[in-house]
Amino acid sequence: MKKIMKYAAIFLFITVSAQLCSGCADRPAPYSDTGYAMGTIVNSTIYANKNVSEKISEDIMEELNDLENNYLSWRAGDSLISRINKTSGNGGIVTLDDRASLFFRKTLELAEKSGGAFDPSIGKIIDLWGFYDNDPHLPDQTQLKDLLPKCGYKYINYKDSKNSASVSLSSDIKLDFGAVGKGIGCDIAYDVLKPYRSGAFGAVISVGGSILIYGNKPDNSPWDIAVANPRSSDGDDYLGMLNIKDIPCFISTSGDYEKYFEKDGVRYHHIIDPKTGYPSDSGLISVTVLCDNGLISDGLSTACFVLGIKRSVPLLSEYNAEAIFVDTDKKVTVTEGLKDIFTLKASGYKK
Ligand code: AMP
Ligand code: MG
Repeated sequence: MKKIMKYAAIFLFITVSAQLCSGCADRPAPYSDTGYAMGTIVNSTIYANKNVSEKISEDIMEELNDLENNYLSWRAGDSLISRINKTSGNGGIVTLDDRASLFFRKTLELAEKSGGAFDPSIGKIIDLWGFYDNDPHLPDQTQLKDLLPKCGYKYINYKDSKNSASVSLSSDIKLDFGAVGKGIGCDIAYDVLKPYRSGAFGAVISVGGSILIYGNKPDNSPWDIAVANPRSSDGDDYLGMLNIKDIPCFISTSGDYEKYFEKDGVRYHHIIDPKTGYPSDSGLISVTVLCDNGLISDGLSTACFVLGIKRSVPLLSEYNAEAIFVDTDKKVTVTEGLKDIFTLKASGYKK
């Protein structure tokens, strides 16, 4: 029996064609679970026996909650990001453990390589737009003008010596890891899955708009991953299908449909160009990035959205990453490595 299962990740839909083989010991039916962590829906589909799958799924949820509460949340008072934000303007220094040190290394490298299109120091600008207060609105012009020169990843001082790493802020900024958080969640899920390599073992884990594909299905057929249609209200849920096999792969999508409001016929969305403090208008409505790391796929999707297609291409190749771009004319552009594995399905789009 061939069955299509749908993973209702909030912003990206995945379908996995699963050869269900009930009662067949060497081809277990996939185990599916849905939970909530990091402010979003987490879907796990795991091909392993039920006890193992349940344990993996539980461990992933536990690790994601730990990641949110102890590292990335800017609301949880004791999280690393909150503690760093509390030092803003007072010169405090916060020590980083190995995990946090890696987050900062990768994040700041991406900020640098993207020329600041991706900038984790953007928190106060996001606050001015009210995207996290359920009250998105146009920002006060004077406040925005005042804030822009004070923000910038260059004010994040990361120090790494042999024995310890630390971070301090040399401007009154607020860190926001929202553009990489779900991707980091997928990296954490990968760490949970890593010990389970034996036999035909595969899993797809989605954390909001970021996805991890791990291993293979028992029948060795490719994973069918559906990419969300950025204008799904026009009809189809899915823009198209990715056919993925034999690679641990991380996929993230950024789009102007995720968080936005409209005023006087203009759509104001949550992906901000740090140079202007306004929603990026690079001509794109969605970008999906594939690569071998979750933090990078997530950060790149945000960066590429801001950069537009032309300036994204060299950045993507630095990270050996591939992408699907959708522009405001509904033209879909895919990078070379995806040409044979992406099929456009939704009507109203052109290649
Ligand atoms: P994503 O959906 O991964 O593109 O992340 C969007 C979130 O990242 C927003 O809700 C903001 O919290 C934050 N953000 C927006 N613009 C940027 C930017 N240019 N650089 C870094 N983070 C951003
Ligand atoms: Mg992102």
